[in-house]
Amino acid sequence: MSVGAAIFVPVLVCALFAVATYEQWRRMGRADHAASWLWAFVVVGAGWATTAIEAVLAIRFVFPGAALALCWFAAALLGARGVRQRAEKPDRGVVMLAIWVGTAIGVSLLQDLALSDPMLRSSMAMVVIAGGGALAAVAVGPRHRHASPSAWIGALICGLFASLCLTLAIVALRFPSVAMLEFTSSLFVPLLVLCGVVIMSCLNEDRAQALERLARTDALTGVWNRRGFEEGARHLLDRFRASGGTAAAVAIADIDGFKGINDGHGHAVGDATLARFAETLRSATGSGDLLARLGGEEFAILAIGVDGPVLRQRMDRVRSLLTVASIDPQGMPAITASFGVASLDADHRSLRDALERADRALYRAKSEGRNRVTLAE
Ligand code: GH3
Ligand code: MG
Ligand code: MG
Repeated sequence: MSVGAAIFVPVLVCALFAVATYEQWRRMGRADHAASWLWAFVVVGAGWATTAIEAVLAIRFVFPGAALALCWFAAALLGARGVRQRAEKPDRGVVMLAIWVGTAIGVSLLQDLALSDPMLRSSMAMVVIAGGGALAAVAVGPRHRHASPSAWIGALICGLFASLCLTLAIVALRFPSVAMLEFTSSLFVPLLVLCGVVIMSCLNEDRAQALERLARTDALTGVWNRRGFEEGARHLLDRFRASGGTAAAVAIADIDGFKGINDGHGHAVGDATLARFAETLRSATGSGDLLARLGGEEFAILAIGVDGPVLRQRMDRVRSLLTVASIDPQGMPAITASFGVASLDADHRSLRDALERADRALYRAKSEGRNRVTLAE
């Protein structure tokens, strides 16, 4: 392979991975960790280009290989950060930046040491960078045995990087005759391809998850749809019962005279009213609860850890919020809603049974004059 190709093929591969991963994740609404991957590939590509040019033109910036290793280190840290961001964990970016800067300062201080042999100086630089990698592994790694996989993967990335640097240092010291550029390039391309393949498979997994989530979400209001509700409820209740929980309750909410809003103001206003109603319901549900649009203008709530009377109070609060909202609407029609509430007690009656009782209670609320919350017996 010509020298030009040896430099520019990996740089081109880095650029392609950078653009491809960034674009895909950005489109999925994950621009945060998309940017981490983008920069990881950019610094790897830039590091490679610098070192290859150094070697080809026979100039030395600092130590042979040190610039490349510092770039790889930055990429490893960005990768660990990307993994944590993907899992929506605190990214620990400031700690990683501090470790990288500390390591770079450590490498540049080595210049002041009277080490005449360039190979020895390079190896010392690699050892310092390996130390930085080990420190980063501890900093981003798990705090306890049950930590999230992202913490373990972050530590693994930094740990592997530290081992690689240490290996390079030992090879440089023990086998000074090995041409380091050829040696690192034989490692570089397979490593790059491996990273690309792993990242692409993460991307596919995220895309499949996004599609699955889309199939369970109501497009108009952003809350779960019926399918999402049934699956989520099964999951939540299983977990809840396994942990010995006793109280749970469901509510069904239905806007009063909604057909009249569509007829009087148009379908678009009807849609906006549905979105606003969902928002009001969301404000009254706890973070561990489930809110879904079952269809039309009918919504369901599964509240964990509370019984029917407590959920009834919450729904009464939603009712009063609707009244307040109707005083200050942006041209939105005033609405009221009716609610049916039922408990899911310790006798483990099924969700289906509770929903049927809540539905009957809702029917009673409607027949008793609407704009009220009725608790099932
Ligand atoms: P009630 O007080 O008895 O609940 O009367 P209602 O008018 O609210 O109930 P009804 O079931 O008669 O009407 C529901 C209406 O909801 C009819 C349907 O056209 C409308 N609808 C269903 N889905 C949508 C939607 O996605 N957007 C809009 N704008 N309207 C919808
Ligand atoms: Mg209705
Ligand atoms: Mg209805």
